[in-house]
Amino acid sequence: MSDKISIESNGKLNVPDQVTIPFIIGDGIGPDIWNASVRVFDAAVEKLYNGKRKINWKEVLAGEKAFNETGSWLPEETLDVFKEYLVGIKGPLTTPIGGGIRSLNVALRKELDLYVCQRPTKWYEGVPSPVKHPERVDMVVFRENTEDIYAGIEFAAGSAEAKRIQDFLKNDLNVDYNFSNTTGVGLKFVSEEGSKRLIRAAIEFALAEGRKSVALVHKGNIMKFTEGAFKNWGYELAEKEFGDQVYTWNQWEQTKAKDGQDAANAEQKSAEEAGKLIIKDVIADNFLQQILLAPQDYDVIATLNLNGDYISDALAALVGGIGIAPGANINFKTGHAIFEATHGTAPRFANTNTMNPSSVILSGVMMLEYMGWKEAADAIVDALAQTIKDKTVTIDFYNLMEDATLVKTSEFADKIIEKI
Ligand code: NAD
Repeated sequence: MSDKISIESNGKLNVPDQVTIPFIIGDGIGPDIWNASVRVFDAAVEKLYNGKRKINWKEVLAGEKAFNETGSWLPEETLDVFKEYLVGIKGPLTTPIGGGIRSLNVALRKELDLYVCQRPTKWYEGVPSPVKHPERVDMVVFRENTEDIYAGIEFAAGSAEAKRIQDFLKNDLNVDYNFSNTTGVGLKFVSEEGSKRLIRAAIEFALAEGRKSVALVHKGNIMKFTEGAFKNWGYELAEKEFGDQVYTWNQWEQTKAKDGQDAANAEQKSAEEAGKLIIKDVIADNFLQQILLAPQDYDVIATLNLNGDYISDALAALVGGIGIAPGANINFKTGHAIFEATHGTAPRFANTNTMNPSSVILSGVMMLEYMGWKEAADAIVDALAQTIKDKTVTIDFYNLMEDATLVKTSEFADKIIEKI
């Protein structure tokens, strides 16, 4: 019997009861938060399945540990193991300064073509928040993970490449711009396929989970052929592939133009009453104020790479900060997925056993859900929520709460395990 997860042609995952999952321990605070989190995962799986199911953890190297042991920041073997085992989890990794690799995370996403970065943002009772009604925040961000300005195609000011590109734009494309030797160049790429596969995943998720809306967040008013195209392709795809299951603001606009605003509003109202998924769009800067003013109006979010990066940290701040923000990088076609916290290595706090492991614990919850081990996932969420409600928290929450009990990273995991 294989210990590897596999995928059927219809996209269904086969997960053996005795499954091997590769993990990267991570740099900086990685070992502290991983060692706490893995005990929580094992306790939940053991308790919920009475030993029938088990995860065998297989460590693979990346980051500083890999560099020290092998001389490579991201050994080929690590990529091969993730390719072979399909599903894995990782701690935060240092971004090497200089050298050939721009970012290990970006390299992993690129190698496995993990085109969706899925980041849920939800408030747990008792978590300190800067807003009056954090309970109104319940969004899942689908961030495009492979394209956009993040492709990392850029050239330094003064380089021959930057000059050549500027000359080409000026001479061949007649671009009217004040080019100079002191101008760096970065290129933004957004494709129809890249946009559509991300938006399709967001809509499928929203329909499966009975969510109310998918908002396409973009900056299409300025960047018409990248961000604006993303929005247009989104509406086109929604209407073509999901037909009667959705109602789009594009349809609203068409009805308004034809029959007036009242008719368009009536059409949208009846679509909402019929339980259809509303596909809407919002410009990114406006969205960042809307999540503070009216977060209840937003549900599933589909957006490009850079917007998604900003948005997920801003949303995380509303519900407790990046210490409790989980994430997943997924290719829904091949089944490949790597789960990881949203935050980085917080190097100042390495080996202090003080940081919040919730981000990794909740990333593991997403992984268990992805594997179909929902009972274990739910048990962890309940125990984590209860621990926070009891005001037993790590330093990040402790500093913002009254009458809380301060615990170490490892003790926070102990408290969760007691409640599973
Ligand atoms: P960071 O996310 O590591 O830390 C910023 C601050 O957030 C910390 O100083 C700390 O106050 C807080 N924080 C982070 N994690 C926390 C936790 N679990 N509990 C409580 N508080 C927490 O960002 P940075 O300092 O800008 O980046 C440090 C390094 O991490 C860089 O090398 C960066 O490239 C890398 N990075 C990696 C990833 C990743 O691996 N996915 C993501 C972001 C940054």
